[in-house]
Amino acid sequence: MNDTIASIATSLGISAISIIRVSGIDAIKIVNKIFKGKDLESVPSHTIHYGHIKYQEEIIDEVLVTVMRAPKTYTMEDVVEINCHGGISATNKVLEILFLNGIREANPGEFTKRAFLNGRIDLVKAEAVMDLINSETEKERKVAINNLQGNSSNLIRKLRQSLIDIISNIEVNIDYPEYEDIYEVTMKDLEVKILEVKNSLQKIIREAEDGKMIKDGITTAIIGRPNVGKSSLLNRLLESEKAIVTDIPGTTRDIVEGTILISGIKLNIIDTAGIRETSDKVEKIGVKKSLEVLDNADLVLLLLNNNEKLTQEDYELLDKVQDKKAIIVVNKNDLVTKIDLRELKNDNIIYINTIEDNGIDALKEKIKELFNLEKFETSNYNYITNTRQLSKIKECLNIIKDIEIGIQNEIGLDMLEIDLKNIWNTLGSIIGENYDEELLDELFSKFCVGK
Ligand code: GDP
Repeated sequence: MNDTIASIATSLGISAISIIRVSGIDAIKIVNKIFKGKDLESVPSHTIHYGHIKYQEEIIDEVLVTVMRAPKTYTMEDVVEINCHGGISATNKVLEILFLNGIREANPGEFTKRAFLNGRIDLVKAEAVMDLINSETEKERKVAINNLQGNSSNLIRKLRQSLIDIISNIEVNIDYPEYEDIYEVTMKDLEVKILEVKNSLQKIIREAEDGKMIKDGITTAIIGRPNVGKSSLLNRLLESEKAIVTDIPGTTRDIVEGTILISGIKLNIIDTAGIRETSDKVEKIGVKKSLEVLDNADLVLLLLNNNEKLTQEDYELLDKVQDKKAIIVVNKNDLVTKIDLRELKNDNIIYINTIEDNGIDALKEKIKELFNLEKFETSNYNYITNTRQLSKIKECLNIIKDIEIGIQNEIGLDMLEIDLKNIWNTLGSIIGENYDEELLDELFSKFCVGK
């Protein structure tokens, strides 16, 4: 942390400008050495200056340099941002000159890591920075910015505060039993407190499902016998020609994917190879993959052919999706109806044809209904979706189970206090009050360079 780091903060390619970010104790001094213009060491903080980057006496680029002095910067260190011309050559040359002057190349996420280590943001906010950068939809952005604003961190802090209140009370009771005017915590108090914390944590876990839907979308598998129209449906949904449509059974041998938005939620659609008995080696692999996709899907669109009677293979597929969220999509309704679905007793049947684009809107409506997507219109977007954070919350819930058993078995408050501290610590590790280096390295290595 004592050295000065630099990296390109914008993506490297042909563009009007590129920004090189420099952070650390020598940031201003070193950039000043290679800058032809005002003396950057004597300019006020948070000001921007026109000039040139030079190497020996050669002018390398015409730039604007922003000088920001600690502590009111992203990293809480001195930060200089060099706006140089975009494109690979000018940007790389300026960066190279910085390295020649003793600045080290920043690791992925190192600026944000410094912001965390210097106490400007907690770990939940740091992770939200990456989520914000990775956001693909409006709703993902809303969740990320809420976390970056500290909504989830504040909730965790509130829970920790309420735990520390009872922990400190128990400790006083244990350490100073002779003080009669100090409130004595009862098992009942503990029970009430634990229930409060448990309810809050369970709410986070419940809502995380919705948060995850916003972040990861709904994995949707289109399955069905060969030639029922799976690729045609995918194309209709994607409104493009991504999958290859032919009338030769078994054409979609691998997995084709695409994403559309329904009510702002991503539907990650996977068109699978037609599932059928086959002796073709390549097709067999496709069928195996299709069955795996089916297992992992949040939603299955099981396609049937309106123009044919149900086959044994259709029955087997209907059987496979019994325990899944599935919509039975009866395609080719432009042709004579030969299928008979009366025996299925299923409410989730939609008739479509992909030739005339008939029934596709009804299918989208059904998906909305099945996943209750309307609720996201009025959501407050306060979700914890990060796997690391959620696993810590689950850890806390497990400790709570132990406490509940302890309360039932009437073990002493002094013993239960250890568990309470454990929860307090585990909640602390969510926001990064305690951490180990390995975790930080792992976490920030997933960041992009320059952030
Ligand atoms: P897949 O093997 O299940 O992916 O099926 P495809 O999408 O490749 O379609 C197989 C054949 O059925 C093609 O000749 C399509 O043009 C035809 N097809 C697809 N959808 C419809 C439809 O709604 N009506 C009619 N009449 N033909 C369709």
